[in-house]
Amino acid sequence: MLTDCVPSKTMIATSVRKQALMDAASLGVRFDGGADGEVGGVHVDLPLVNQRVKELAQAQSADIAARLVAEGVEVVRGTGRLRDHRTVEVGDRVVEADTVILATGATPRILPGAEPDGERILTWRQLYDLDELPERLIVVGSGVTGAEFAGAYQSCGSQVTLVSSRDRMMPNEDADAAEVLEEVYRRRGMDVMGRSRAQYVKRTGDGVVVTLEDGRTAEGTHCLMTVGMIPNTRGIGLEEAGVRLDRNGFIEVDKVSRTSAPGVYAAGDCTGILMLASVAAMQGRIAVWHTLGEAVQPLRLGTVASAIFTDPEIATVGVSHRQIESGEVEANVVKLPLGTNARAKMQAFDDGFIKLFCRPHTGIILGGVVVAPRASELILGVSVAVQQRLTVDQIAHTFAVYPSLSGSITEAARRLMQPITTI
Ligand SMILES: Cc1cc2nc3c(=O)[nH]c(=O)nc-3n(C[C@H](O)[C@H](O)[C@H](O)COP(=O)(O)OP(=O)(O)OC[C@H]3O[C@@H](n4cnc5c(N)ncnc54)[C@H](O)[C@@H]3O)c2cc1C
Repeated sequence: MLTDCVPSKTMIATSVRKQALMDAASLGVRFDGGADGEVGGVHVDLPLVNQRVKELAQAQSADIAARLVAEGVEVVRGTGRLRDHRTVEVGDRVVEADTVILATGATPRILPGAEPDGERILTWRQLYDLDELPERLIVVGSGVTGAEFAGAYQSCGSQVTLVSSRDRMMPNEDADAAEVLEEVYRRRGMDVMGRSRAQYVKRTGDGVVVTLEDGRTAEGTHCLMTVGMIPNTRGIGLEEAGVRLDRNGFIEVDKVSRTSAPGVYAAGDCTGILMLASVAAMQGRIAVWHTLGEAVQPLRLGTVASAIFTDPEIATVGVSHRQIESGEVEANVVKLPLGTNARAKMQAFDDGFIKLFCRPHTGIILGGVVVAPRASELILGVSVAVQQRLTVDQIAHTFAVYPSLSGSITEAARRLMQPITTI
């Protein structure tokens, strides 16, 4: 809470606002002090941003803590450890329980030879203590977290180098979406290094050098390591209490959040199911409903909507394009570039698209991808369709505001409608 979702999205809000200012020239906005067509006199005050980020995260955390206390929950501070499947030790305190829910989360993976020092070599947890914007930031790891921070710091004014071990950034995400992002990032001046696996990171006098496996190096003033997450599951008595872990240390759970130990449930990042706040919360609710004996729907991951808070954002729900291309799912696909949308043209948004997938014959919507500003909000229409098993005809007959970006969702559905055949 204090160092992951809330602070990163708060910091990203600043970067998106700054980028909008940088892009405003194409809409006829001029800044005093700037040369014609350029932005003058805009910079990000990082200490102020970090202060805002920390205050907001603290306030959010305090709200939740207050709510728990108000609901009658006793909060015991300290590191918990299972003595057995019904007993938790926290320091000298021993708590007996009918049900235990494990929600210990995960921590940034540390690459041997690239240990963070909190000053120049950083994990994302240490970013908010920086007292000035990194002049030249190297981001190692181009998954979702790396892509979000690389874009945000580039927009804030850092010169960013993104070190990606794979052919392209965000290898697990929609390939078309990743391609759009990579193009935007390069245009904004980011150095995106594909097929570049970092081997170690060393501090120099007032900077860092990242050495790649092929011997090349990248130099910067700071290095942010975003190379994955390790579950917080070791050394807290889980296996001794009969809680089975998988080979990566994640807690094995079934669809109602039960672990292998009787009465012990687990939720969130420590299960490694889908590392999203929304999924963690749902796993937790399911665990509580299940232990209370209420009717409970098992966790359904096929309808989880998720977003990557890059600029433009990437939001997805339902089946992926990769599943369709591999033949695992049979579906029709339509992709509308954002540049075909009237509102996008007016707002000078050209980077992005809307993709919709539906079952052949029945036209039931199976999923979609939105790459656009505020895609995280736009995806809801597709999510409702996927969750409710709506057809392309039903979406095609739905009114969208004109002009609006969401109009591209109804238009995509119209493109997927089956031609009417006459006998
Ligand atoms: C940079 C970043 C950005 C993200 N952005 C998003 C986003 O935009 N949207 C989204 O949905 N998700 C996002 N996520 C993922 C999201 O933050 C996690 O999925 C979510 O926080 C998982 O919740 P959790 O309760 O499982 O774990 P956590 O939030 O990590 O909480 C686990 C807690 O347990 C504590 N703990 C660990 N071990 C013990 C112990 N033995 N005893 C007592 N306490 C212990 C930890 O200190 C921690 O406070 C982001 C993650 C990161 C890192």
